[in-house]
Amino acid sequence: MNWKKNDLVEVTIEDMSEDGEGIGRAEGYTLFIKDAVIGDRVQAKIMKMKKTYGFARLVEVLGASESRVKPLCPVSGPCGGCQLQSLSYERQLAFKEEKVRGQLRRIGGFENPPVEAVIGMEQPWGYRNKAQFPIGRSKDGRIIAGFYAGRTHSIIETPRCFLGDPVNEKVLKIVVDWMEAYGIAPYEESGHRGLVRHVLIRVGEEIGDGRQVMVCLVINGKRLPHKEELVQALRTLPGMTTISFNINTENTNVILGREVRHLYGDGYITETIAGLRYRISPQSFFQVNPEQTGKLYDVALAYAGLTGRETVWDLYCGTGTITLFLARQAKWVRGVEVIPSAVEDARENARANGITNASFYLGRAEEVLPRFYEEEKERADVIVVDPPRKGCDTALLDTILAMGPERVVYVSCNPASLARDLKYLCAGEYELVRVQPVDMFAQTVGVETVVMLSHKKR
Ligand code: SAH
Repeated sequence: MNWKKNDLVEVTIEDMSEDGEGIGRAEGYTLFIKDAVIGDRVQAKIMKMKKTYGFARLVEVLGASESRVKPLCPVSGPCGGCQLQSLSYERQLAFKEEKVRGQLRRIGGFENPPVEAVIGMEQPWGYRNKAQFPIGRSKDGRIIAGFYAGRTHSIIETPRCFLGDPVNEKVLKIVVDWMEAYGIAPYEESGHRGLVRHVLIRVGEEIGDGRQVMVCLVINGKRLPHKEELVQALRTLPGMTTISFNINTENTNVILGREVRHLYGDGYITETIAGLRYRISPQSFFQVNPEQTGKLYDVALAYAGLTGRETVWDLYCGTGTITLFLARQAKWVRGVEVIPSAVEDARENARANGITNASFYLGRAEEVLPRFYEEEKERADVIVVDPPRKGCDTALLDTILAMGPERVVYVSCNPASLARDLKYLCAGEYELVRVQPVDMFAQTVGVETVVMLSHKKR
């Protein structure tokens, strides 16, 4: 290969990577090009080279693909939040289906996985109920809010994110104005100095004058100066339901610290999905796309195949969202979750929805389930898992194999760890029966997948 760094090349994009980069070949050398979409003919500049492949930057689209669309957001290029805004939504769905199939093949070793067409969104914008904006300073010293540029921690100032609720912009303006007015410093990662790190905003269902709004400032300190003034200013926004701050004094990339202090309201907002009402606290996990969440849980419920007689375990249950869906059609459901406030929310959610056949346990799934199995000879007809990106611990998978429920329903936000875990379970007594991707994250490369595994001998 005769290329070198900074060379300009012309390539046709023939494929897309899992991260959404266009893939093309220049005289046989494979290049990954961000913001280039399948079918494009582009000019690109080689930025970084490895032996068998390299990365290039898109310079100009010479011939636009039929799947190329104009991004809605002016900072869709530099911002690390979206990767697929230049790709038509229809094509995004095809990309996600292929991503799931590809991982199941490559990592899972399933030759022909039964992947259904992705369940798409009706309106692929403005769907997110949660946003976490880092706060920092511009080069000229102004306080700014925005999102991190891809793979970095430099903040791209974004007055508005098109995936989120319009109220975000208003909240950020109030917070930034308040910081400027009272000389409150944004956090600086390099020197671990300054106070305000992030602004977490969540919106819930409509009650009264609009969607409920939660604001939580993440601060590098234990005290928030001029908090009354902040609360007063935020309360002018319709729907403002709860205001709090979260203490994170660690030198870390993790956004939230452990402790939350409430400044206004009851500390939570609510969302209703398929007739079940859930309360959401700043620290609890809750799916970011409520419209698609209902569809996702419907699939999970259908795959669980409940008749009312089953004992079900829902591992990684968060605030008990899936648990309560299952409880309506099972004999008993046990949820396991590691975050204490989420378990409290889960119990409260069960109570508030009149559900009496669900119980919740605080702890790691890979410790709680083995303990119940070994000490109490606990059995299960159906086990549902919905782990974070890294997937399930082997100790948990081993216990599932030992318990041998009739069906396992695996809900996953990461096809790679999903494929790895399915391979493990299917090397045991399980068979991969159905795979349904659901689009919860339009414009991004994220894809949620629900899988049904069935025990071969039951
Ligand atoms: N099923 C829920 C939450 C899924 S997100 C829903 O649909 O809303 C994954 C959840 O797993 C998070 O709430 C996270 O706090 C929890 N978690 C992470 N590691 C865990 C572990 N080892 N054991 C139990 N729960 C864990």
